[in-house]
Amino acid sequence: MLPAFSVNQPYKETELSLHSQKSERRKMGETKTVHSPLVTYASMLSLLSLCPPFVILLWYTMVHADGSILQTWDYLRQHGLQGFIKIWPIPTATAWKIIACYGAFEAALQLLLPGKRVEGPISPAGNRPVYKANGMAAYFVTLTTYLGLWWFGIFNPSVVYDHLGEIFSALIFGSFIFCIFLYIKGHVAPSSTDSGSSGNAIIDFYWGMELYPRIGKYFDIKVFTNCRFGMMSWAVLAVTYCIKQYEVNGRVADSMLVNTILMLVYVTKFFWWEAGYWNTMDIAHDRAGFYICWGCLVWVPSIYTSPGMYLVNHPINLGTQLALFILVAGILCIYINYDCDRQRQEFRRTNGKCLVWGRAPSKIVASYTTTSGETKTSLLLTSGWWGLSRHFHYVPEISAAFFWTVPALFNHFLPYFYVVFLTTLLLDRAKRDDDRCRSKYGKYWKLYCQKVSYRVIPGIY
Ligand code: NDP
Repeated sequence: MLPAFSVNQPYKETELSLHSQKSERRKMGETKTVHSPLVTYASMLSLLSLCPPFVILLWYTMVHADGSILQTWDYLRQHGLQGFIKIWPIPTATAWKIIACYGAFEAALQLLLPGKRVEGPISPAGNRPVYKANGMAAYFVTLTTYLGLWWFGIFNPSVVYDHLGEIFSALIFGSFIFCIFLYIKGHVAPSSTDSGSSGNAIIDFYWGMELYPRIGKYFDIKVFTNCRFGMMSWAVLAVTYCIKQYEVNGRVADSMLVNTILMLVYVTKFFWWEAGYWNTMDIAHDRAGFYICWGCLVWVPSIYTSPGMYLVNHPINLGTQLALFILVAGILCIYINYDCDRQRQEFRRTNGKCLVWGRAPSKIVASYTTTSGETKTSLLLTSGWWGLSRHFHYVPEISAAFFWTVPALFNHFLPYFYVVFLTTLLLDRAKRDDDRCRSKYGKYWKLYCQKVSYRVIPGIY
């Protein structure tokens, strides 16, 4: 499901055999880019340099400038670069402690909680990653512990909100160092044969080198960064904002309640379906680098949670009817998004022997050739949600984000930044995925495009 910001990723052909790994390392550097190399490098470098200050500016605007971009703009105009440096919080010991305790707790849960053994899809190098599916248990333990600490007066989540700027600042620097670690690890000690260098340090750092980096045999780094740190922090921060508003005002406004409930339903859905997530592009195609890992460690906690961050200081009252309408519409979108993912995965899992909307599914048997010359087949579903458009699941994903933001009403644009960002990300992702599938399936993908002609929005795009 996740995140981050996509620029023109050199698309790496999938399905590499073990013995072709060496040549793949070279080939990665020569792969086609979706856009020209100049645009690719320019966008990578701009995202590397612009995202960190953006996180700080967004936090500052939400927490200290009433959510008003104009107010922040005025401040920056008056005080220039010095003013910007002044608002950038220095990571404090408290911030590092909060991050370290949270990270260590999540890592321990990932390693220690029991869970079913789940196999991921066969990797490009022919490996099959094995996971322990204990995400739902970790989610439950995390939220119960967090609320318990608050309830029994051991730790007040308001502290997290009060140190939010320092925490984001620490995450920005800490995660950057972590990505350097991933880059070095990819070069000197890759965990599996699903690793390779493009021959270009910036691309390797940005897009990553290893597909399945691990510490030891069991600690999967991408499960930690994407799921247990990033997605979990989304739920933890949603609860934090709610508690902060309660501590300040003695009550929680219905706008905040709708926002928090919808975000929690979304994250609960994510952990309920976490093993399915391990089959998606984030895990099965995107390598562990700045794009995915920094995105999950910093961008998710700061940007994805930002509508709630805004609401802390804006206890808007919607009234029961409107609040309920938004809540139900949001839950419906989250359900449809879940059902799209479920339908595709059930279809693949049963090899097409399932019912889709009460009927036998319509499908294309698509064959493709691996770089080692082997011919393999995949099934493409062309009915149900997947018959409406090729990436219909992005429509309810974006709509759900709109519904948990709209309780902020329309006084300021900034709470809607996430919706705009997500729309851009997913439209770009749909194109990236189409390009990748076209190069993988050739004429079969063309046939799919003829049968299902719209990319995302049926009848429009
Ligand atoms: P998908 O899970 O949709 O995976 C796309 C892959 O599915 C394709 O590469 C192809 O892989 C296979 N595929 C494509 N078409 C078909 C078909 N018709 N039938 C069967 N298989 C097909 O992609 P995402 O990872 O983008 O999305 C997963 C979830 O994550 C979605 O719910 C999405 O909304 C959410 N998401 C959320 C984001 C966020 O930031 N909030 C960001 C991105 C995603 P193969 O090579 O196996 O054929």
